[in-house]
Amino acid sequence: MKRNKITFAAIAASSAAFAAAPMLIPAPREMTMTGGMLLAATNAPKIEVVASIPSEGYELSITTNGVSIRHSDGAGLFYAKMTLAQLRVDATNASLPCLEIKDAPAFKWRGVHLGETQRLFGKRTVMRMLDLMSRYKFNVFHWHFTDDRGWRIDFPEYPNLARKSDPPWLCSTEQALFYSKEDVRDILAYAKARHITVVPELDFPGHSRAITAAYPDFACQLKPKSRSNVLCVGNPETLKFVERALDWVCEMFPSEVIHIGGDECSRRPWGKCPRCKAFMKQHGMKSATEIQPWLTRRLAACLAKKKRKAIGWDDIVTEHGNVVKALDASVLPERDAVMVMGYRCRDMILASLAANMGYKVVQSPSRHTYFDYSQGLPDDPFHYFHPDRFTTTLETAYKFDPYEDVKPEARANVVGGQCCNWTKFTFTPRDLEWKMWPRALATAEILWTNPDPNKRDFTEFSIRAAEHRRRLVRDHINCAPLK
Ligand SMILES: [Zn+2]
Repeated sequence: MKRNKITFAAIAASSAAFAAAPMLIPAPREMTMTGGMLLAATNAPKIEVVASIPSEGYELSITTNGVSIRHSDGAGLFYAKMTLAQLRVDATNASLPCLEIKDAPAFKWRGVHLGETQRLFGKRTVMRMLDLMSRYKFNVFHWHFTDDRGWRIDFPEYPNLARKSDPPWLCSTEQALFYSKEDVRDILAYAKARHITVVPELDFPGHSRAITAAYPDFACQLKPKSRSNVLCVGNPETLKFVERALDWVCEMFPSEVIHIGGDECSRRPWGKCPRCKAFMKQHGMKSATEIQPWLTRRLAACLAKKKRKAIGWDDIVTEHGNVVKALDASVLPERDAVMVMGYRCRDMILASLAANMGYKVVQSPSRHTYFDYSQGLPDDPFHYFHPDRFTTTLETAYKFDPYEDVKPEARANVVGGQCCNWTKFTFTPRDLEWKMWPRALATAEILWTNPDPNKRDFTEFSIRAAEHRRRLVRDHINCAPLK
């Protein structure tokens, strides 16, 4: 039998190979076309457990006699079936190309983030997103549901949080203002069936205006009476609330990793608040900049007691502003106590600085993974975050390198990455789909296949992305054009 080992670069170069090659996203790590077709794959695949296959990995053989799948865990079997579904192209065509695939992900954390504080898209939209995520082998849904504008999951012990939040912008009067415990349970079950972990985020101690508006005593005492969006760490009741909120998310969400926020927190209110000044004195702190690291360590310890792990935005280990500098060593959390999620890009990617320091990191550098940035399309009906300043085209998304700025010896600290759907300027589910697709196809391939950045072939990827756009549009997804 003639066996052609092909690479995707070779496919683009050879029209004959191209015609025969399946349009898979993410590209499998190894694929050999063995020639011929399985014309009617009516029998169920032969499935075998092989312990030596890596977690989430699979081997898929298609011969003229049938389909067989080898895997070592449930996720691997699931991803083999997802690949098989892509090979079928469409429901009317039962034939499959004969091939051998050996596949496993480059990264453990392959995430999609959704901001639901300024908008609330609702259960149907979230489930539709989870469906598409699983089609492209994403396995983490990072749910950002607390921020200045709102707290969007009901926390019955603090009922004002969800009920007194500002309503999501442009939400209709019939629409729910927050998710109930039952909604969350349904979303978790839906995600689990697709091998997706839901990582909840409680954004502390900044971005907390929804909390301080509902419970003013949790804010710093400032004169004149202004309501800041920063939690008053000097108030013992605030700390009780924060720790109880962590208990509450741990009771609801089985994820081992819990996001504690930590981004863009001003230290100014702490320096002016009498309770926080007394707190600093009591703890021998020289300045208010020591308060957030203290809180980070405390929240991480609180989660560790429950056998969970804290992850926070890169501000939890780095200085504020336009500098590339770690916090003072005396206040840094222990290397194994927290994980760091990176978003800021300065002279270097700040999460890479954290990886080089020994922290486990999830990369989401804004310039490659923020989908509220303009796509650079000549004709685009939707609104973006400062479109004159920030652009992330499909090509920029495909240039995402999770190891950028990471020293070779620190590469093992990069556990993965994600794309982020911030939604201040995203008004409807159609708008959300348009911004996410096709750019999330690029993120999916980087996080699963991670092709060598020096050899990535965007032209070839575009051929596959165009075919997947065709399929997404066929399935009524409002996928944007490639350019
Ligand atoms: Zn205070």
